[in-house]
Amino acid sequence: MAAAAPPGNPYPTPGGRVRGRFAPSPTGLMHLGNARTALLAWLQVRAAGGDLLLRMEDLDPARCRPELAAGLLSDLSWLGLDWDEGPGRPGLCAPYVQSLRADLYREALARLAATGHTYRCYCSRAEVTRAAGAPHAGEEGPRYPGTCRALAPADAAARAAACRQPAWRFRVEPGPVTFTDLLLGPCTFDPGARGGDFVVWRADGVAAYQLAVAVDDAAMGITHVLRGDDLTDSTPRQLLLLRALGLTPPQYAHVPLLTGPDGSRLSKRHGSVAIAGLRQAGVRPEAVVGYLAALSGLVPPGTRVMPGDLLDNWSLSQVRRHATVVRPEDLAALTA
Ligand code: GLU
Repeated sequence: MAAAAPPGNPYPTPGGRVRGRFAPSPTGLMHLGNARTALLAWLQVRAAGGDLLLRMEDLDPARCRPELAAGLLSDLSWLGLDWDEGPGRPGLCAPYVQSLRADLYREALARLAATGHTYRCYCSRAEVTRAAGAPHAGEEGPRYPGTCRALAPADAAARAAACRQPAWRFRVEPGPVTFTDLLLGPCTFDPGARGGDFVVWRADGVAAYQLAVAVDDAAMGITHVLRGDDLTDSTPRQLLLLRALGLTPPQYAHVPLLTGPDGSRLSKRHGSVAIAGLRQAGVRPEAVVGYLAALSGLVPPGTRVMPGDLLDNWSLSQVRRHATVVRPEDLAALTA
């Protein structure tokens, strides 16, 4: 179905400045991997003299906890990573907490629905609930087969009668989506072949990750997104949403993940990787920031620095392009 894009950006955002963001989900303690992403996003924006926004992505009520959000803010400040707008720093784009921005997402959904980009999906709740969080690599479900994409009115009515509340899916047309990643270079994905039509609104009435992030990045005037490369697959979907809503996309940089020695994404099972635990053990922020910078290829191992010390020699192109292992002996050296 042909879909018309509404003109212009309807959101009041400051123009002409570099604006980046760090967008943690308060679902766990901040660990070295999240902290590394925050450090690199901070450096990218601060080196350009831009604004850094902190956005709390707390849309998954089952997993997000306010005390974890408070802990994230405290850990960031301890690491010397400040922000210009966000919790505790009101600005033009407030509120900076996604659970308080539902009206914006609802309005975007209405625009997508009005232009034929979305359809109601009556498929099982278990399937659509997976869309709540950012689909980090390996967490994405199978390709949606398009069950509800083109239902005859009678079938839609029958399914609607058997369903408490439908989800909404975005209609992904076949074909590649390309973008140039500031670190990875040209990227091409076929989101139609990968996950198919994706959920933008969950059956429990909450905006899904892809819609909330695309809308927020535009509404907050974000020009630069730097995040983990496990979210690279999400970028084409967010680009499709931004295009459908007539909004300007940011530039993206996806940085390789930190992993444990087993090669999997860094997590609790890899030992004392939480910033809170390192703080409690008496580790200095300079040691943590220096370690994260060394893992990223920015300084020699063993360097102790605060984020501001890295600004003079910062260049995104220096950041290592391959996943980096956090070893138990490195953690031991930090606490030594
Ligand atoms: N809130 C997401 C996470 O913590 C990150 C989203 C993003 O950077 O786009 O995994």
